[in-house]
Amino acid sequence: MSDRAEKGDGADLPRSGPKGASYKSAPSPFSAPSPFSASPRRITLEEWDRRYAELRAAGLREADYGGPLRRHVEDGDLRLRKLRMDNSPAALRLWNFLLSEEDRLHQARAEGKRLVGAMKDLGTVPVLACSLPDVVTFYPDGAWWIPCIMERTAGLLEIADGLGIDDSFCPVRAVLGAMVTGAHFPVPGLLTCSVGATCDDLSAIAQRLEGMGHRVVWWEVPHRRRPEPHEEAVELPGGFRATRRHVELVESELGRVRAALEEYAHWRLTEGQLAAGIAYANQVRGLLAELRRVAFGAAACPMPGLEMLVAEMLAIHFCSDRGESVAVLEDLLREARSRAAAGVGVLPASAVRVFWVNPVADLRVMNLLEDAGGRICGTDYMFCHALDPIPEELPPMEALARMVLADPMVGSPADRAERICADAARFGAEAVVISRIPGASHCALEGSVIGPIVRRRLGIPVADVEVPPVTDAMEPTLRTRLEALVETAAHHRKQKKR
Ligand code: SF4
Repeated sequence: MSDRAEKGDGADLPRSGPKGASYKSAPSPFSAPSPFSASPRRITLEEWDRRYAELRAAGLREADYGGPLRRHVEDGDLRLRKLRMDNSPAALRLWNFLLSEEDRLHQARAEGKRLVGAMKDLGTVPVLACSLPDVVTFYPDGAWWIPCIMERTAGLLEIADGLGIDDSFCPVRAVLGAMVTGAHFPVPGLLTCSVGATCDDLSAIAQRLEGMGHRVVWWEVPHRRRPEPHEEAVELPGGFRATRRHVELVESELGRVRAALEEYAHWRLTEGQLAAGIAYANQVRGLLAELRRVAFGAAACPMPGLEMLVAEMLAIHFCSDRGESVAVLEDLLREARSRAAAGVGVLPASAVRVFWVNPVADLRVMNLLEDAGGRICGTDYMFCHALDPIPEELPPMEALARMVLADPMVGSPADRAERICADAARFGAEAVVISRIPGASHCALEGSVIGPIVRRRLGIPVADVEVPPVTDAMEPTLRTRLEALVETAAHHRKQKKR
């Protein structure tokens, strides 16, 4: 374990993000202990049934989307039966918030709000769209988790097969099935899709959707490259650099998106409204940054990797409710701080610190890592740019354009590896897992680019694993790979201490 991790509550980890970013820390009231606290544990759904009854008997009050987790299984979210989830009321609220998003979207539609489906850019268009009144934005791309959560019973991938988008594409093709059936989220009245320096998968899927009659606003994102010496360079959130020309190009593309959104919403967005939307997004990002600092830095892991993964997703589009996403994150942060201050966690302090690259198509794999003796201590789930604060001192559209170009996926995997190394070192990682996504075209060889750079720069072991939406059939292999990685890292730790 690193010296940093041994110090305890993560207080010595830097509060600022990479290069110039300054996260707004949540104030001290979040460290107050919860009256419903129990020894932190990851528990099964059956254990959650009992825990929920106890919490209710003890007077737990919930948001209107609250309730026992079991009801989601009855609605088809079968994977919950195989997960182990954190036992805090904060985690209960997080799961209920996540799993009630479709209800929230249907309610918004019923209330006459306008729905925007943003695709691919992961973090920018929702900031723009949510600044407009009565507009709710979400990522249809999020349907890529439906085959996992519903253990493939929804048949979405089979519908995509029938439309010519087969398993040579990544699981995001589930979007097609969800849009055809309309059985999950309501079909949005406007879709946006960024193209250019992104993958072919989502472009092909969005083209298919447009061919089926859905309105898509396409916008271009150029490949981010390092500026030539004669070019004006611009500093991006997160530490990358781009050329001024590329920033201007993206700003103009976002201007087209903004105009389409304004037309759809029948509202002219003012600079003040957009600045307020950016400040709101930064509040969410600030809370997440603080949660990550506490959860990844504490000696005994205070919040499991699974809940941390779900929490990070809130940064992308606020799970269709900005205000509630802030409240959910505040609860999680309060719980994590309270546990860290008490020196208790869900895993032993000896757990090997693992930096995880790419989101897992099967959520259960986050449990497997912890069962193997690891813990998450840092992440790159392909949207680090949505965790960095958006510069509020810049004109709002330029700030958003810079954020788009800060996306780790619009540059080279070698650049992405540099940020992974910096973040992994910052969080004291002892190993890195690159979890590949089957069929993903964003970079079929990313593991062979990122892995060697991490090994050379940090001298820590790297495992490259592929994670399909349901891993049951390959669980023994995955488990063995993760155990081997953890054992190797633990061996390195012992050698370093000698
Ligand atoms: S190919 Fe990669 S970037 Fe494209 S949708 Fe799939 S996971 Fe996302």
